Amino acid sequence: MKKIVLLIFMVVFGYGYDLKPIQISKNVYQFIGKTEAPSKSNGGNMVNTYWIKTDKSYVVVDSGPSYNYAKDAHKAMKKIANLPIKYVVNTHMHDDHWLGNNYFKELGATIYATHAQAKKFPVGSDAHMLSVITKEDAENTKIIAIDKFIEKDFSMKVDNLTLDFIHFDYAVHTPEDVMVYLPEEKTLIAGDILFSQRITSIRDGSVEGGLKSLDTVEKMDVKTYATGHGKFTDKTAIHQMRAYFLALKTSARKAIDEGVDINTYVKTADFSAFKDMAMMEVLHKSNLGFAYSEYEFFEEK
Ligand SMILES: [Zn+2]
Repeated sequence: MKKIVLLIFMVVFGYGYDLKPIQISKNVYQFIGKTEAPSKSNGGNMVNTYWIKTDKSYVVVDSGPSYNYAKDAHKAMKKIANLPIKYVVNTHMHDDHWLGNNYFKELGATIYATHAQAKKFPVGSDAHMLSVITKEDAENTKIIAIDKFIEKDFSMKVDNLTLDFIHFDYAVHTPEDVMVYLPEEKTLIAGDILFSQRITSIRDGSVEGGLKSLDTVEKMDVKTYATGHGKFTDKTAIHQMRAYFLALKTSARKAIDEGVDINTYVKTADFSAFKDMAMMEVLHKSNLGFAYSEYEFFEEK
């Protein structure tokens, strides 16, 4: 009986993650999350995380929504190669991307992240994610200290591979975002600079910053785009992000010019072209509000 109850629990609440890596370029593996909001049924597995395999170790880019997620990802990667995890990089402060840090810290990894993340989540603080997912999925997850801060662009040789860190010092998706680029295989791990299939959230970022970051990305020599959310690794994410940002910018500026107030704008702006994008119902209305506020006092440079 107990077993049956547990089984029903597992099916209903999605206990455990059962993660499967996809090799997206020579040395980069992706765990792909759902394009939906975090919930008890998905355990916060609505984010993409990445493992870079060198000839001697792993570098993990984003550690996922919980300790148990990180542990499950590690279990899956051990089947590909049982290598030590040298570094964990957190691309930005949103907690779906890095709550697995303490699992990797226990294994001796060095954690790289931004000051914005440390400021928002001091050691021992609470993360909203952990109240959204089940207790079982959240178990053992703790907010720990960051070992090294990413403050500017730099390159690092890790074993046989070169990793270029690109640091945005203006608000894009959050006040500080980081991308990791592998020049030898032209793979860009873009964090939440790029999404496909679903819309982004403007809450902690900026529409202008978003557009500017896409210009930076488009100037780079990239074969594989590793996005923070969504399954595509080609230019789809760039096109979808730009289309959405531009629609926000154009419609918000037009409304402001015509004297339409923010509430009317949020109610009436026509975004029917984006109706098939995931997360529209959850994020779009607040994105409209943020876009309007941003452009209300904006001057084109
Ligand atoms: Zn994200």
